[in-house]
Amino acid sequence: MTSAGSLLQLVRRGEATTRRDLIRVTGLSRSTVTQRVDMLLAAGLLRESAGESEGRGRPSGTLGFDEDHGHILVALLHIGRAELAVLDLGGRVLRRSSYPITIGDGPERVLGEVEERLGELVREVGVDPAETIALGVGVPGPVDVSVGRVMQPPVMPGWHDYPVRDRLEAHLGRPVFVENDANLMALGEQRTRWPDAPSMLLVTVGTGIGAGIVIDGTLYRGVDGGAGDIGHIRMHGREERCACGAAGCLAAVASGRALLRALSELGKDVSVVADVRDLVQHGDPDAVGAVRTAGQLVGEVLTTVVSVLNPEVLVVAGELADTDGHFVSGLREVIYQRSLPRATRNLQVVTSDLGSAAAIAGVAELVVDEVFAPAVVDERLAAAGV
Ligand SMILES: [Zn+2]
Repeated sequence: MTSAGSLLQLVRRGEATTRRDLIRVTGLSRSTVTQRVDMLLAAGLLRESAGESEGRGRPSGTLGFDEDHGHILVALLHIGRAELAVLDLGGRVLRRSSYPITIGDGPERVLGEVEERLGELVREVGVDPAETIALGVGVPGPVDVSVGRVMQPPVMPGWHDYPVRDRLEAHLGRPVFVENDANLMALGEQRTRWPDAPSMLLVTVGTGIGAGIVIDGTLYRGVDGGAGDIGHIRMHGREERCACGAAGCLAAVASGRALLRALSELGKDVSVVADVRDLVQHGDPDAVGAVRTAGQLVGEVLTTVVSVLNPEVLVVAGELADTDGHFVSGLREVIYQRSLPRATRNLQVVTSDLGSAAAIAGVAELVVDEVFAPAVVDERLAAAGV
């Protein structure tokens, strides 16, 4: 792991910020490091600030990943809304927009509009479309990342096995990465807030329920991209109809959608998940009780997950996380009561304050990891004859 691409990764991850660090971390000779760093500088991948002179020899500057030499496009698809963004390579948002969609309209219509609006957004930012590095797409369903397709998604009718990646790549002429939305949030949260946690679990509870797992800084997707898909686990003794067509799923009893249904049956005036949150914040006892019970039900399923994974951090995200602590305290109570002490001794249960910024940060991390992976960079340098 001492190629030019590997040196770039060390700088990108903050493990080395000077030539001297690179020599120390890799054990390479000064002349080899100089040659590889110069190669990365020439390719515009690294930049070096003027450093202070340290006595004899050349001053040692600070090395950094050049975050301005391209941009990343983001398209996050939710059940009823799409968010688009243009980022620099450091994940900073240059511009974003959001508009309503119906995911059930199917891929042709939804992706057609994404293509059109992404083009508009790029024009508005005024960046050169030729400098688009890649597009990252988040979807509320399981993804086979090897082919960039959504597989048997419970709440995305018409999307099963549709070539999302191939279609968008053909349109953009750039690499496209399709990923489950909870996975993106988990990756963004881990890299931004918990970079040292060896095992992190994120559960997101909004209209639906999803979870993402990051182990040793890497997403754990499972064999078929189904890891963390906890929303449609069947709950013993429950018969409520679920949006996926089955009955008694966790999402049918504990998601924002389930709470909307339960509270409107009680005569409450609620139509979106934010209304449930408002009721809780105004101290409505039915809403507080329902949200707390939902937290307990999610906690029941997470008790098993926590025992299998023994994570250091459990992040609770999504609209229901932000309900004056009622959802999270229900969830926490059940997890701590029902788990063995060893599974929870070092567990922190926290809420996310990143919101949709977590998924956007996740796209930046995912895309940069893929496009600037050591082997990919080395290949590109070789092809360029540097
Ligand atoms: Zn279901």
